[in-house]
Amino acid sequence: MGYPIVLTADRTLMSEYGGAMFLGFSACVPRGLVSDSVYFRIFCPPAKANPDGSAIVAPYGTRKIEAALLDYGFRREDVIVAHPERLEKIIGPETKVLGITENDPLGIGPATTTFTEIFGGEAYMAIKFRELLNHPAVKRFRPRIIVGGAGAWQLEDEGIRRELGIDTVVIGEGERVVGPLFEKAVRGEDLPGVVYGEIVGVEEMPIIRGATIDGIVEIARGCGRGCDFCVPTLQRFRCRPIEHILKEVEVNVRAGRQPLLHAEDVLRYGAKGLEVNRQAVTELFKNVKNYPGVERVGISHFALATVVSAPDLIEELSNILNLSGKRWISGQTGIETGSPRLIEMHMKGKCKPFAPSEWPDIVIRAFEILNENNWVPCGTIILGLPREEEKDVEQTISLIEKLQPFKSIIVPLFFVSAGGLKERSRSFKLDDVTPRHAELLFKCWKHNFVWMNRIFEEWSEMSIKSRLIKSALRMLISYGIRQASKYMDICEREYGCDLKAMIMDYRSGQLKIRAPVVTKVFKALLR
Ligand code: SF4
Repeated sequence: MGYPIVLTADRTLMSEYGGAMFLGFSACVPRGLVSDSVYFRIFCPPAKANPDGSAIVAPYGTRKIEAALLDYGFRREDVIVAHPERLEKIIGPETKVLGITENDPLGIGPATTTFTEIFGGEAYMAIKFRELLNHPAVKRFRPRIIVGGAGAWQLEDEGIRRELGIDTVVIGEGERVVGPLFEKAVRGEDLPGVVYGEIVGVEEMPIIRGATIDGIVEIARGCGRGCDFCVPTLQRFRCRPIEHILKEVEVNVRAGRQPLLHAEDVLRYGAKGLEVNRQAVTELFKNVKNYPGVERVGISHFALATVVSAPDLIEELSNILNLSGKRWISGQTGIETGSPRLIEMHMKGKCKPFAPSEWPDIVIRAFEILNENNWVPCGTIILGLPREEEKDVEQTISLIEKLQPFKSIIVPLFFVSAGGLKERSRSFKLDDVTPRHAELLFKCWKHNFVWMNRIFEEWSEMSIKSRLIKSALRMLISYGIRQASKYMDICEREYGCDLKAMIMDYRSGQLKIRAPVVTKVFKALLR
């Protein structure tokens, strides 16, 4: 018969990526680099579903909306979080609304843009989002479709929504607005095309009822550092009370998940402004680490300036988490550029309490502190920031060279015009890539190739039980590194780092790139 309110997310968001959240970046890679069966079985295996088709774990945003709807007054039997591969079991004539969480529905986010501009094609996340909208059960029973999540801004345009058959998009925080909105949808009333969520207080953030992908638990929301290309800048920085966090840890532990604490900067938990509140952070980590059933604690993001302003805090957290040798923790952080000029221009707050002129030294010092304490940073770099000059790119290249000794991953991303810069800038495209940019891309990738094998070996030791999967992944990584190194070499030697010319030659068939034979080996292994 179907549930009145069905919440779900596309298939790439409904995977725990084998416990390696960083592999989630692979959903931004265009389809075709490896075969679909290899991709969806090795890299992005589906999260498990209950026999009734409901999801055992779901994206944190989906769980938050589920909780907000229940708190608003919808009955438990009216709201279900569905596994995207079981929709035929859950959507029926009674289904009035399908709520979808989406990070990058059109495949135009920074990571996706970078991959698709270079490799061509369309990313898995966008493909799987469309598949969801065109699912036979959705087409047959025609529920109202409401989309929210980090990538909702991409659907603000009415034409795009109409083309995709989306009724409403919720941009921003959903808690306060989804109750009345879903109520209207259930009653069959007219819906607005766009709803802008309001910033909510911590007490209004509901406690999730079901477990989340990789045990994610939000500890704080917003940032306040004010980078002008970033959406969280628009949000007020708020920290959730420890009791709420522990309740969500409990929900996850019950489902067999270890907690992964999420904030834009976990080191600023409990801080007033930018000054670190050591006591609040250590108390939080101790409470979570000592919670019954918790063996390890993960983190999502931290800021490099905070690391340098509180090195003793990093050491203390490492002690609380029992980190040593191969037992390390990883999190994402923004390097963005090696140019103090661009920092001054676009993200003055990122380096506070230090000055923009100190930024390259802050990054190096932070990487040093992190590695000394068994933290492995995964840093992002942005190519093509507005008003970027060749000198800025050179400074970033020089910074990446200085980061070589530190165990880390560096992810170069193309600038995407969004947030506060949306009206004043345009996104960076393949056409804009100069030989200097290509050099920077190659520097980042070579940095990663040096560290990837070691990081993979140590991580897989802790996380992957199957020897077959481990060897398959090891093989794929070393094959990928060999191939990518070969083509970078060709680009440097034969094209003078003119990546665009090389890609054009590849697309016109003048440069042959062998199809990955590794795919065939994988298929044989999987059989
Ligand atoms: S520091 Fe990061 S999260 Fe904060 S505003 Fe800047 S880019 Fe956004």
